[in-house]
Amino acid sequence: MYWDKKMETLKTADLKEIQLKRLKKTLKQVQNVGFYQKKLADAGINPSSIKTLDDITKIPFTKKQDLRDGYPFGFFAVPMKQIVRIHTTSGTTGKPTVVGYTRNDLDAWSDLIARNMTMVGITADDIFQNMVNYGMFTGGLGFHYGAEKIGMTVIPSATGNTKRQLEMMHDFGVTTIHCTPSYAMHLSEVAEENHVSLGSLKTGLFGAEPWSESTRKMLENRLGITAYDSYGLSELFGPGVAFECQERDGLHIWHDCYLVEIIDPQTGEHVADGEHGELVVTPLVKEAMPLLRYRTGDVTMLMEDGCLCRRGKKIARITGRSDDMLVIRGINVFPSQIEHVLLKIPEVGNQFMVYIDKINHLDEMTVEVEINREYFSGELADLANLQRKVVKELRDALELRTTVKLVEPGSLPRFEGKAKRVIDRREKE
Ligand SMILES: [Zn+2]
Repeated sequence: MYWDKKMETLKTADLKEIQLKRLKKTLKQVQNVGFYQKKLADAGINPSSIKTLDDITKIPFTKKQDLRDGYPFGFFAVPMKQIVRIHTTSGTTGKPTVVGYTRNDLDAWSDLIARNMTMVGITADDIFQNMVNYGMFTGGLGFHYGAEKIGMTVIPSATGNTKRQLEMMHDFGVTTIHCTPSYAMHLSEVAEENHVSLGSLKTGLFGAEPWSESTRKMLENRLGITAYDSYGLSELFGPGVAFECQERDGLHIWHDCYLVEIIDPQTGEHVADGEHGELVVTPLVKEAMPLLRYRTGDVTMLMEDGCLCRRGKKIARITGRSDDMLVIRGINVFPSQIEHVLLKIPEVGNQFMVYIDKINHLDEMTVEVEINREYFSGELADLANLQRKVVKELRDALELRTTVKLVEPGSLPRFEGKAKRVIDRREKE
């Protein structure tokens, strides 16, 4: 099922040719932006110095802070007259980041959403309830126009009033929903409490926050849907950058529109396929706000094994933010990797804490994890075995020796908002 079969299934050589052509065009386009004129001149780069795709590593990164410094319109590469819409990213502190779109941008963006939805079998026959914020947040209008382009029946219900949302889903025979995974969880609870049957539902599209496989299973069981992961960010149009196909093992990223790199957030060097790092993207079809090597701050990896349905490597689901990365004896560790290991061991719970100390000049990592009583006999010998098992699993996954302490169920702190599971007690130099 393809929206744009030609572009979605390009042969590698043809794809590379298009990427290079579009990269060169983007390099010309950024010359209209003062920030890039100076940045590229300082780095001694002109459009003719980029001859192959590999030459991209010569270009300096663009950071979120650069965009903030350009507030409000410093990154626009076209006259305001050609800007037909503005969105902003949610600035948790200070000014938000402003993104602008030309008419072509809006068209390209809705096409990408249409590709994603078509990829998972959604058609003009589907009835779609879009339960995200329709304001400055790109998730609302982004999905809305993509769905209309396919010809779906769109219900722009936005957020809030869960009972009314459920009533519409039931009465209108909604087949497809889009919202955050946490809102979907809430929705399923309210549906259960109020005995609302949602028999017409087939597909759930979830994004805007990282979520796990166990959340997927829970949502699928409770809502009777197949759940797909959606990834995007406003700086790269919005949602639609990458999306799961029906295989639901990694996300296809649209390589004809986004040039993808995965870097070690400390060194800026590329990491190998299958290794976690920060996603860096150069959008290739943006007119109003072209960007070069934009550091997304999101942690993922390029997957080694492909999927035959679309061209190019997939990315793994986003596991967190690169700001969370720890460096332990020179090895990069993301708290999400620790969580991933622990979730696979049923004898321990999903509550854990990580402590990092410097002992005799060496970094030492201690992981405290709660025992899961349901799976645990209470025998001391079993305890020792379990402890060794957790140490081994962590060593295999992280290539790092850790100290593991098993603790009583319920003894570790619970977090309401963003969890603070890592306490770094090393003295900062
Ligand atoms: Zn696929």
